[in-house]
Amino acid sequence: MNLVLLGAPGSGKGTQALLLSRHFSIPKISTGDIFRNILKTKSTLADTIRGYMETGGLVPDAIVIELIRGVMRTEAKDGFVFDGFPRTVEQAVAFDQLLCDENKKLNYAIDLHMDDAVLLKRLLGRYTCEHCGSQFHVEFKPPKVDKICDSCGSNLIVRDDDTEDKIRNRMIVYKKNYDRLSSFYRTMGILIAIDGDGAIDCINDKIKQLLCSV
Ligand code: AMP
Repeated sequence: MNLVLLGAPGSGKGTQALLLSRHFSIPKISTGDIFRNILKTKSTLADTIRGYMETGGLVPDAIVIELIRGVMRTEAKDGFVFDGFPRTVEQAVAFDQLLCDENKKLNYAIDLHMDDAVLLKRLLGRYTCEHCGSQFHVEFKPPKVDKICDSCGSNLIVRDDDTEDKIRNRMIVYKKNYDRLSSFYRTMGILIAIDGDGAIDCINDKIKQLLCSV
């Protein structure tokens, strides 16, 4: 199964990608996680991407596509669910070409929809595990032990870009790209739109039902 998840920041892409990765036994690959790990290194690439990430902007397409080229040769070679890629139609077109060159194709692009006000509320109370990336929320999904990940026991942190001004910028960036990106996959006939507001398991069941029925 080859899947990508579209959706605004806070729409639950990471959580749904993780569940789909377990269900289909495919790796969940988050470009955001990869870039955050690069930021921890002392490298020219880290210096280049830091400014974009700190303001909630997008890392340039050329860098993202080069990264994906490498990922497709390694962890994604036998199936994948991408979380946070592609973010622009240029990335989607380059990805399509990359897949085509390897005689592969994307099965579905899953598009999670949600109201801006709900997104903001979700992101403002969000805690992320610094080790496994699991997500919690101070109100909607508190961890069993304060600031400790239920899944792996590591520390939970507030992401640097989960502040109100950066969240608002990330939403603006998302909306700017959304129409062209979703149209691209709609035209290909592989876009699946889902309401992302609701219980995690219900949304996941809905996605799986739709994947089986199309
Ligand atoms: P995320 O964890 O998906 O919210 O991504 C965090 C940040 O990483 C984004 O705000 C961007 O700065 C960068 N990023 C992640 N994925 C991409 C992508 N596909 N294209 C450009 N920038 C990205």
